[in-house]
Amino acid sequence: MSVAARYCVVGGGISGLVAAYRLRVAAGPDAVITVLDPADRLGGILRTERIGGQAIDVGAEAFVARRPEVPALLGELGLSGRQITTTGARPLIYSEGRLHQLPADTVNGIPSRPSALSGLVDDATVRWMLDEPRRPLVWRSGADPTVAELVGERFGEQVVVRSVDPLLAGVYAGSAATIGMRAAAPTVAAALDNGARSLTEAVVAALPPARAGSVFGAIDGGYQVLLDELVRRSGLQWAQVAARGVHPVRAGWEVVDDEGGHWPADAVVLAVPAPRLPALLADLAPHSADIARRIPVASAAVVALALPGGTPLPEQSGVLVAGRGPLHTKAVTLSSRKWGRRGSAEMLRLSYGRFGDDLARSTGDDELLAWADEDLATLFGIAVEPVDARVVRWIDAMPQYGPGHADRVADLRAGLPRGLAVAGAYLDGIGVPACVASAARAVASLVAGSSVGQ
Ligand SMILES: Cc1cc2nc3c(=O)[nH]c(=O)nc-3n(C[C@H](O)[C@H](O)[C@H](O)COP(=O)(O)OP(=O)(O)OC[C@H]3O[C@@H](n4cnc5c(N)ncnc54)[C@H](O)[C@@H]3O)c2cc1C
Repeated sequence: MSVAARYCVVGGGISGLVAAYRLRVAAGPDAVITVLDPADRLGGILRTERIGGQAIDVGAEAFVARRPEVPALLGELGLSGRQITTTGARPLIYSEGRLHQLPADTVNGIPSRPSALSGLVDDATVRWMLDEPRRPLVWRSGADPTVAELVGERFGEQVVVRSVDPLLAGVYAGSAATIGMRAAAPTVAAALDNGARSLTEAVVAALPPARAGSVFGAIDGGYQVLLDELVRRSGLQWAQVAARGVHPVRAGWEVVDDEGGHWPADAVVLAVPAPRLPALLADLAPHSADIARRIPVASAAVVALALPGGTPLPEQSGVLVAGRGPLHTKAVTLSSRKWGRRGSAEMLRLSYGRFGDDLARSTGDDELLAWADEDLATLFGIAVEPVDARVVRWIDAMPQYGPGHADRVADLRAGLPRGLAVAGAYLDGIGVPACVASAARAVASLVAGSSVGQ
């Protein structure tokens, strides 16, 4: 009698659950697939809660719909009908005490034409940007400066602080000073590699073609709908324990958990956040462990509110906050305006915490809720008692893609022994689509190495 193949996935966030599903597809119905995760539910940063009677995502709430991974996965799982689009409402930027329309035609806030920023930056900055194509640009192919270094030098500090930083704070809880150009704006870096003579020319070349349809998508019913289907289709068994180590044994691998359990496996996918990886890899792949240890991370807190229906909010999808001003929040999502009303309450989310501060860790729930009240009063002049509220913290959850990140990740992967693969938000991009892709890549590498389904 042949013994069924056994696989372990360590970490049950979206990266781990997609890895489990891909393992099932590759290894067939008899394989035993165990997901180890000590959390009280699977999904990691994808988490849907009922607030004010409505399902709302309190971690990630959207995905870039122009990337293929999530729509393709939803299609494969028969969930395409659950994909929703934005209403078309756009975000605002709060800068210097005023609300501005988000500039059009930028790559992560890096403008393709100076006029798009007039009003947001001063006239001297607009003139400096107009002059940019005439100033000589020194660019070494493959270079990866921080966004602040390049954009600050070419377009000026105000463009960094008022246009680029608010977007990067939203995506990474980071800033232009910590994120590398190749992560924040890979197409701009590629255009410069290809010989663009100015940053303006590079951004124009890098702008995605104007396409009909929403840039962002989400799931009707929240990400829980996708999580449930991945769990069902992968036929995984969930061990609600934390992995403490991974060891080679004669027949493959053994994952040891913090309760002393041993989980034999033909191959293992490690889908934990970067700060959790070194403890699992320390003896096996010390160089890879060291690289993971050095990836900086930021924390964020999300305050999700249900306000009474009819609360006077602008017809916008939210507000991104530039600089440190009177507001505590770094971003507000007007969820009901962004995705369309789904119930009687007005749903919204406020995010707190950036790379380098410890707001998300150290601020109490009551204080965060009080800040949310103050921030909404400052932004929209409203003072209403929420119908319902929830505070959720995501500690060390957002990896920072500093200069040279992609090279370090290539080294990390190269240092892994055969039969082990990694997936997660610290590898090829922080968003859900990149996590889905990293999980597929992890399983493909195990299949290619004959550790799966052969
Ligand atoms: C507030 C916030 C908002 C975001 N918004 C968006 C968005 O709108 N769109 C978007 O595309 N992306 C967004 N992101 C990014 C995206 O949500 C994450 O990058 C992605 O969900 C990470 O998934 P993951 O599976 O790699 O990691 P995680 O979701 O962190 O899952 C890792 C899992 O590993 C488990 N684990 C840890 N240690 C161990 C161990 N020793 N043994 C076993 N298990 C372990 C944890 O319990 C956890 O469940 C957001 C992130 C945050 C924090």
